[in-house]
Amino acid sequence: MRLSVNPSEPSPRRFSDLGLSPSTLRVLEHIGYETPSPIQAAFIPLALSGRDATGQARTGTGKTAAFMLPILERIDHDSSQTQALVLGPTRELSEQVAEEARKLSAGHPCRIAVLVGGRPIRQQMSDLQKGVQIAVGTPGRVIDLLRRRALDLAHVKFVILDEADRMLDIGFRPDIEKILRCCPSERQTLLLSATMPPPVERLAKSYMRDPQRVDLSADGIAPSEMIDQYFATVDSDRKFRLLVRVLAKEKPSQALVFTRTKRGAEQLYRRFKGRLPKVAMMMGDLPQVVRDRTMRQFRNGEIRLLIATDVVGRGIDVSGISHIINYDIPEYHDDYVHRVGRAGRLSSDEKGWALTFVTREQGPQLTAIEKRIELLLNEYTLDEFQAYRPQAPRPHVDDMEIEPVYEVPDEAEFFSVA
Ligand code: AMP
Repeated sequence: MRLSVNPSEPSPRRFSDLGLSPSTLRVLEHIGYETPSPIQAAFIPLALSGRDATGQARTGTGKTAAFMLPILERIDHDSSQTQALVLGPTRELSEQVAEEARKLSAGHPCRIAVLVGGRPIRQQMSDLQKGVQIAVGTPGRVIDLLRRRALDLAHVKFVILDEADRMLDIGFRPDIEKILRCCPSERQTLLLSATMPPPVERLAKSYMRDPQRVDLSADGIAPSEMIDQYFATVDSDRKFRLLVRVLAKEKPSQALVFTRTKRGAEQLYRRFKGRLPKVAMMMGDLPQVVRDRTMRQFRNGEIRLLIATDVVGRGIDVSGISHIINYDIPEYHDDYVHRVGRAGRLSSDEKGWALTFVTREQGPQLTAIEKRIELLLNEYTLDEFQAYRPQAPRPHVDDMEIEPVYEVPDEAEFFSVA
């Protein structure tokens, strides 16, 4: 198991140096977390001290355990009141946070509820009535439950704002503020965010008390040692053909393809659907049951190719993802880091692989990404492409001869045998 986000700078500390209790250390040993990741090494002692803290780190760097371990250490297990509230931008992220919390609390189980939209609210109300110590949810549903007086935040001691930048992007600020006003002022607030733009700074300033800052954003940059990163120049109308060729050549065990818009994801999905049974799409407005089923099937490997937009793609933590393809270059540099990071997860031992399609006009966007990650991406080449090399300077992928009638090959030709 890989222990540190950046292998060139292994985390210098041990879990036993961070102030965690012997029972927590036993759980960590049991689940195979040998060394704290950098965000865990920096954030856990701070959070255990009771101070407000902000941590700049992306998903995939172990940030969930960084805030969850201190909470699990400090909640009163004998009380059934809601003592911790974790707010996050998406349902999938909330599910993952709850799952990680269950794993980490194995030594001393506690009652955790996931409060997200798209799920029967009655069930959540009944869970809350039985007593929930840690509530994990999205702001919209949390507000809904507060309005129905099903959720009582009067005894909350810990509030965690997870992926705060993304929550504000989605427009959750008013909801977050309402929720924070329902929590006691005597509380500890922890904020995790991949980036710290001014709106996040303002949120921290208004609702946190002299927060200590931990900045591990550099760890969010997918290092070249962990992920092979390529680009291919291609005209928009040839992207699909290139994608099919790439899949046929690379034979990913599991691939995640990102599009910029929902429409783009839908169109791409329709082109594969029926011809490739193990393909699915993920986007925010699909019914929750469909999203849940898709995630389950992606996790257990039934789905081999998932087409997603950024909002949902960001929360996907699946260790089997071997290939990331940016069908559309991400609009924001940070989205690049998030997308590509899906293939270099802390929990996975495999080296990741990522390819970004770039149209001719998007050269400056690619350069901006390269500056942000401090790495020049390699140009991706296909075998047939090599044939051009002796005669002419290296052509772009879109100069290749592509057969006029294109067929999606059999599924067997696409994917590597698991
Ligand atoms: P996160 O950034 O919280 O989404 O975590 C990414 C993945 O890394 C999750 O699957 C965690 O279970 C795993 N993980 C977190 N901390 C460690 C650690 N110290 N050692 C090994 N795996 C870890």
